[in-house]
Amino acid sequence: MRYAFILAALLLTGCAGPFAPDAPPHPLITPALALLDSIETPLPWNGKTMREWRQRVPIRTVVMEEWKGAVWDGDAILINASLTYDAAGLAGVIAHELRHADGMRHECGPEGNQDRRSTPWSAYAVQIWVLRQLGEEGQAVGNEGGFCD
Ligand SMILES: [Zn+2]
Repeated sequence: MRYAFILAALLLTGCAGPFAPDAPPHPLITPALALLDSIETPLPWNGKTMREWRQRVPIRTVVMEEWKGAVWDGDAILINASLTYDAAGLAGVIAHELRHADGMRHECGPEGNQDRRSTPWSAYAVQIWVLRQLGEEGQAVGNEGGFCD
């Protein structure tokens, strides 16, 4: 009986697809969110507090074989369970993905995943702003080629 229950649970969760099954929460998410919430400056792109801006978007940890970082999937920010950034790096990446959740897309680059520096508060611009607020150098970790011009 118990096995039948487990099998049913597996079948139900299987609809998430083999590409990105859920995983236990990545241990750096909580410290990354604490770093984001430590930013008290109103956000230059919308005037909100960081906490107001980020709390509307769910964050899930998933197993992704192809993509080592994080992605906005239209409903949630998916963090790869194997992501190896530090907490500040992840905070910057979460801010980047939050900007995608605002509807801000990448505009250019050979793979279409870069921004123009002239675009106001693009995903990479927001990521770098967050890193600088946290006293980091402002390198968009994992996306060093973030700008096409
Ligand atoms: Zn992006």
